Amino acid sequence: MKSILEQRPALTQEIEKIAEVAGYLWQNGWAERNGGNITVNVTELVDDEIRQMPPISDAIPIGVTLPELKNTYFYCKGTGKRMRDLARKPMANGSIIRILDDCASYVIIADEPVMPTSELPSHLTVHAQLIATGSNYRATVHTHPIELVAMSHNREMLGKDVLTNLLWSMIPETKAFCPLGLGIVPYELPGSNTLAQATLHQLEDYDVVLWEKHGVFAKGIDVMDAFDQIDVLSKSAKIYVNARAMGFMPEGMSQEQMQEMSRAFNLPK
Ligand SMILES: [Zn+2]
Repeated sequence: MKSILEQRPALTQEIEKIAEVAGYLWQNGWAERNGGNITVNVTELVDDEIRQMPPISDAIPIGVTLPELKNTYFYCKGTGKRMRDLARKPMANGSIIRILDDCASYVIIADEPVMPTSELPSHLTVHAQLIATGSNYRATVHTHPIELVAMSHNREMLGKDVLTNLLWSMIPETKAFCPLGLGIVPYELPGSNTLAQATLHQLEDYDVVLWEKHGVFAKGIDVMDAFDQIDVLSKSAKIYVNARAMGFMPEGMSQEQMQEMSRAFNLPK
């Protein structure tokens, strides 16, 4: 069967980026079994021929109605699929979907009838919010970074911006490349609407949010941007863990040094 990626270099490049990031998630030890999700809004890369493509699935209800998603297309990781497999074969472990005119259901259009992640309603809710606010962000990533999840088991670290300040203070680049910091979402049942709503709320102020005792959820301009923000936060968390393992509390950059960073690099916080 012909792949939707054939003779579509821009769409191919976007899907290759997703596969590359899926590989990083696995290599980092953040994506055990089928853990984690990626969804990317690919509407801008869809041509008239794709718009005419017949569906390869029945209409499937999303579970929510999202009017902002009219005429949109997404690449979604498949339910039960593994990041390490997606890294090698993105179109066999994920699919491209078309949101139908009722904005409450979708069809799969390519390449194979791979059912999207069970987290689709929450991911699409975030994408709808991004569209509604005129954001240029197109990607969402959910994964399980070890040190950040470990930190979320410490009640004191779950206070507002406690981890943001701690992680920013470990190495200057973290503040520069994750300038909004890390939002916190208290524990909620995975896949629940309460988790989706709490995440949506935190994403108004942050690009990356930490789900207590579970993982992170990030939004970005593209999938690489979302990954990079998680990666710099994870790097800081590793520096903190290493210092503690060496038997001391890391000093951290001072508030003055961090404010100097904000002025020098025109950072928002
Ligand atoms: Zn998860």
